[in-house]
Amino acid sequence: MSRSTEICAKPLKSKIRRTVLKAGGTLLISVLAPLSARAAQIVAVRVWPAEDYTRVTLENDAELKTTHFLVQNPDRMVVDIEGIELNPTLKELVAKIQPNDPYIKQVRVGQNRPNVVRLVFDLKEEVTPQVFTLAPVGGYQHRLVFDLYPVNPPDPIQAMIEKGEWPSSTPGEITPPVAQTKPQEQKPPLQPQPEPPQVAKADPKPDKTPTLTRMITIALDPGHGGEDPGATGRGGNREKDVVLSIAKRLKAKIEQQPNMRVMLTRDADFFVPLGVRVQKARKVQADLFVSIHADAFVTPTARGSSVFALSEKGASSTAARWLANKENSADLIGGINIKSHDRQLASVLLDLSTTAQINDSMKLGSAVLSEIGGINKLHKGAVEQAGFAVLKAPDIPSILIETAFISNPEEEARLTDNAYQDQMADAVLKGIKKYFAHNPPLARNRLT
Ligand SMILES: [Zn+2]
Repeated sequence: MSRSTEICAKPLKSKIRRTVLKAGGTLLISVLAPLSARAAQIVAVRVWPAEDYTRVTLENDAELKTTHFLVQNPDRMVVDIEGIELNPTLKELVAKIQPNDPYIKQVRVGQNRPNVVRLVFDLKEEVTPQVFTLAPVGGYQHRLVFDLYPVNPPDPIQAMIEKGEWPSSTPGEITPPVAQTKPQEQKPPLQPQPEPPQVAKADPKPDKTPTLTRMITIALDPGHGGEDPGATGRGGNREKDVVLSIAKRLKAKIEQQPNMRVMLTRDADFFVPLGVRVQKARKVQADLFVSIHADAFVTPTARGSSVFALSEKGASSTAARWLANKENSADLIGGINIKSHDRQLASVLLDLSTTAQINDSMKLGSAVLSEIGGINKLHKGAVEQAGFAVLKAPDIPSILIETAFISNPEEEARLTDNAYQDQMADAVLKGIKKYFAHNPPLARNRLT
């Protein structure tokens, strides 16, 4: 399914001709791709609204040639698509724009001239559009993608503070070690202790005395989303939906902890590129990164939960390598604009994985795996390792949890069950707390 990168989005290289025109004081940029011999048909239209960006996808049976430009007062984006006639599928786009879309007010669709369809996106604010095509991959034919990013993206931490989702700790604040909070989980933060504070060390022995700690930040990463459904069970349940549901439950439980706060890499059904997930975790200086997935295999009998960490020297098994390749293909299915994707970011993330990160990830993984073993069969009794792109933050212990096999009908039923989702969230939280009990977070003095 993900054997190579040959099938990834082509940057259109030599096919691109850029023209810059002045139209009413607005910069006009056109991107031209070659015309196909016959008229193309739009086979599907999809809209993925999100705070990060809104994506509109037109799926076609041939690569499309487009030009687009922005107009201000009021803000709108005009797109001309050549080589197609207006068809009912394309007209559906009008009704698919939701009133609460953060960036698109409405879209108008019309036959501009013979063989050219014009789309006018009336915008709610100024956007930076990325328009690109994706070659057929997975179950998709050719895709023409419009990603509308805000010109002024909101600061993620500020946004969470405004929503009341980001408790902050003052420097020197004293809270008991995580291990000691167990019986009092529901209580508000404790008052400062009378004993003199000690700076936490990465000492493997649990310390009974109060320790100078700070707010622990957890990055939770529900896999897939948007154009990338992940694996699909025989009952039609999609990985992207069940993992988002489990992640939201886990988020709520973490928020109950007096000394923890949490950031979701996505809180809705939209696609987040793998590198961006890691970037988001680093932006909030996460202490841990936990990616949540559901496994799938060709035979429906495969079952059990697993936990993975990054590896430095190749995968721990053929199955682990196969799975990492499958999960890493998310960017191909979800669709990224290779041309504009931050290559610098990618190289930093891919090259700087450290032994220390992997050691900590293995400890975290073992703690979580043993707790999950209490609620589901384990696929393997130990943490496995492979080159998962999403685990490559060089400075954040990172694990990927395959919560169960969605391709196994029995486990698919569990994955969609509220009680199981809740148990899974509890188990992961217990594992995280166990990890911190033995590996207290260091005093923060990072430059990033
Ligand atoms: Zn997955």
